[in-house]
Amino acid sequence: MINGIKPLERSLRWGMVGGGGTSQIGYIHRSAALRDGTFTLVAGAFDIDAARGRAFGERLGVAGDRCYSDYQTLFQEEAKRPDGIEAVSIATPNNTHYAICRAALEAGLHVVCEKPLCFTSEQADALVALSRKQNKIVGVTYGYSGHQMIQQARQMVANGDLGEIRIVNMQFSHGFHHRAVEQDSPSTRWRVDPKFVGPSYVLGDLATHPLFLAETMVPALKIRRLMCSRQSFVQSRAPLEDNAFVLMEYDNGAVGSMWTSAVNSGAMHSQKVRIVGEKASLEWWDEHPNQLRYEVQGQPAQILDRGMPYLVDTALEEDRIGAGHPEGLFEAWSNLYRRFAIAMDASDRGDTDFLAQFWYPDVHAGAMGVRWVENCVRSADSGSAWVEFI
Ligand code: NAD
Repeated sequence: MINGIKPLERSLRWGMVGGGGTSQIGYIHRSAALRDGTFTLVAGAFDIDAARGRAFGERLGVAGDRCYSDYQTLFQEEAKRPDGIEAVSIATPNNTHYAICRAALEAGLHVVCEKPLCFTSEQADALVALSRKQNKIVGVTYGYSGHQMIQQARQMVANGDLGEIRIVNMQFSHGFHHRAVEQDSPSTRWRVDPKFVGPSYVLGDLATHPLFLAETMVPALKIRRLMCSRQSFVQSRAPLEDNAFVLMEYDNGAVGSMWTSAVNSGAMHSQKVRIVGEKASLEWWDEHPNQLRYEVQGQPAQILDRGMPYLVDTALEEDRIGAGHPEGLFEAWSNLYRRFAIAMDASDRGDTDFLAQFWYPDVHAGAMGVRWVENCVRSADSGSAWVEFI
């Protein structure tokens, strides 16, 4: 159980690029990073508007001379200081991730990067190689993967509780963009503009989340080929899709499906993963994250609840409040940031044995999301043909 004891003797000196006062996602990064005392926020280039970013940073308690106008100045100036930042989080629109992540690694920093890591598999490969060369951690914020019930599912699959896995059914299909809301919302506008998001909208923005949850639950499954059909129901979004279906075949004969949508009218989030094995199935839904449904063929369905002693150790270790009280996205992110800090510290100590067995959404997870989107777009744009996964 996590009870506030710091997992590390030190706190990493940490900065942020983006995540400014008007951003959607900045606060949860800070809330997660600061919760367990593993990071201390000392610098940032928080906003595309330098003056607004400085004013915001100062109100967060960051010294004015360490609120920089852009990420290049942040990395240059912090590198000159004996107490400069050791890690940086990138929470800016998608088109900037590759350049900022590359610059951060070149500056010798550990990185936490928003998804998607970048736009092309070539860029992803370059970041994988650079993080290895620089011996630096890149963590990717697939937020709910830090939830204990995902660890529970992972262990149950590994234990063979479901038998051989046959079907993976994934979805992330909300209804919030069922009409052209981008006309009134700046943070939706860039999400439907290829200049900012590259080749896809919902495939990259939404579907990579349940894709990674399923990868976490069943790491052995490798996609062999897939086919994708994508639509732009709000026509001004074309060629970017606001709805897509993907079918996947895995190399062990299992099959998967993904429904991702921003036009699922009336739905809140509808992020779900259902793993079907030869004996039993597991189902997790982000609107009820504390419950994992376990259905054994021929028996009454069971609802496993977070915090209960019957769960596996890996699900109980990161519990923060005990059973009954809800935990959710903020706690899942905190668990991820805690893991990022532990990995960064192990990397700094050269503890490769520890890192080899330690799980967190790493640069390979980020690269896999990029590659998956690329393959989906290639299939959709070839008339929804089946394509080998490359
Ligand atoms: P947003 O538009 O609400 O905010 C973007 C922030 O970045 C703003 O503060 C803006 O001023 C700042 N910014 C933009 N360009 C910058 C630059 N070059 N340098 C410094 N600051 C800059 O966007 P958002 O919804 O917060 O999304 C940001 C990122 O987070 C996106 O990549 C998005 O995909 C991702 N995101 C991830 C999750 C998740 O669950 N992991 C959820 C939402 C968003």
